Amino acid sequence: MKNKTPTTQLEVKVILNRIQHFVGFVYQSIRMRGSGGSLRVEVKIEPHRGIRGKCSSCFKPCPGYDQLEERRWQFVPLWGIVCHFFYSPRRVECGEHGVGVEHIPWSQGKRPVTTAMMGFLARWARRLSWRETARSFQSSWEAVYHSVEWFVEWGLAHRHLEAVHSIGIDEIHWGQGKRADSFLTVIYQIDGHCRRLLWVGRRRTKATLLRGLKVLGPGVVSALRYVCSDMWQPYLTVMAKKAGHALHILDRFHIVQHLNKAVDEVRRAESIRLRGKALAVKLKKMRWKLLRKGSRVRGEARIKLYGLLQSKMATGRAWDLKECFDYFWHYKSIHWAGGFLDYWTERVMRSRLEPMKRVARTLRKHQALLLNWFKAKGEVSSGVVEGLNNKIRVVTRRSYGFRTYKAMELALYHNLGRLPEPETTHRFC
Ligand SMILES: [Zn+2]
Repeated sequence: MKNKTPTTQLEVKVILNRIQHFVGFVYQSIRMRGSGGSLRVEVKIEPHRGIRGKCSSCFKPCPGYDQLEERRWQFVPLWGIVCHFFYSPRRVECGEHGVGVEHIPWSQGKRPVTTAMMGFLARWARRLSWRETARSFQSSWEAVYHSVEWFVEWGLAHRHLEAVHSIGIDEIHWGQGKRADSFLTVIYQIDGHCRRLLWVGRRRTKATLLRGLKVLGPGVVSALRYVCSDMWQPYLTVMAKKAGHALHILDRFHIVQHLNKAVDEVRRAESIRLRGKALAVKLKKMRWKLLRKGSRVRGEARIKLYGLLQSKMATGRAWDLKECFDYFWHYKSIHWAGGFLDYWTERVMRSRLEPMKRVARTLRKHQALLLNWFKAKGEVSSGVVEGLNNKIRVVTRRSYGFRTYKAMELALYHNLGRLPEPETTHRFC
């Protein structure tokens, strides 16, 4: 069989011209230097004779002014061999913008890495840790950092924020202790057609959330239909003020979390009270069983749980109240759900279980928001925020070798922002 495609004697130059051809520039020479571990490929680039340099502000061809010293850019390694571009940038004299360095299509400002390599490193930095990425491609952690930074900045500048109708707002614990700085505020888009991280900021104050809304812009805020959050007062206050037209819903998983925390407090207090007494046995190794959804506890654990329930111990009663609240979510009518909420909170208030009473008081206080759940039923999926939170934890915990908050913020946008990517003529990975 005859092969109809013409074949060429393959030279590196041919590959480069095929995948990365820059009008106005020529690959002058390609040399290999060094040996063993220091082997490297050096690509020398020259301006095309007869094509003038372009102004980096308006991209118009301009008369030359002078030439600067040779610069070096790291390019995508070839078969594991480090590869660099060398070029002496020209300065051009633009009628409008004056004398300045010409537009160099493979370069971004003063960064010593080509855009192709930055895209390459940034894409790998989603699959590997930043340190591993640097090591795998003979680069540095800083180069990976700056590549992701460029990628994310480009993506944020080019993303579309139309059709954001539902957002979830949450606080994420990050770092050590309970200092204000160890919390992040995140804003997610939780629409069925698009789920992503829209914004992340330090702390969890009103000012933080206001900053986030400002970044998203008034267009996004005014188009909101649903807002989903925890009962964290600063968020509730800001959203009532800024997006009062949207329906504010409380996250189901957060409420379950509050209830679980209360049950756990009751159990701990009771364990201490019963120390050394026979009944204490019933509370042993019960922590996780109590926190799971009752219907998901099976086998021996279930028998133990029912034993606890029949004993009328405080922990058993708290657990029973927590489980009972689950009915709330299954109502069809907002009226009946409201009735149930009244019944449940009254029962809790008579229980003499202080941690449970605290939750009941909070739920009563936010009754209107809690009932909004039924107005939005089906429109907002309550598991989305929880799912995105889990993904955030994967990123913050994975050892990226983050040295700063900024690095972590970049990694979050990079992994969860679903940002558009800079266009390239060739995808290296
Ligand atoms: Zn110009």
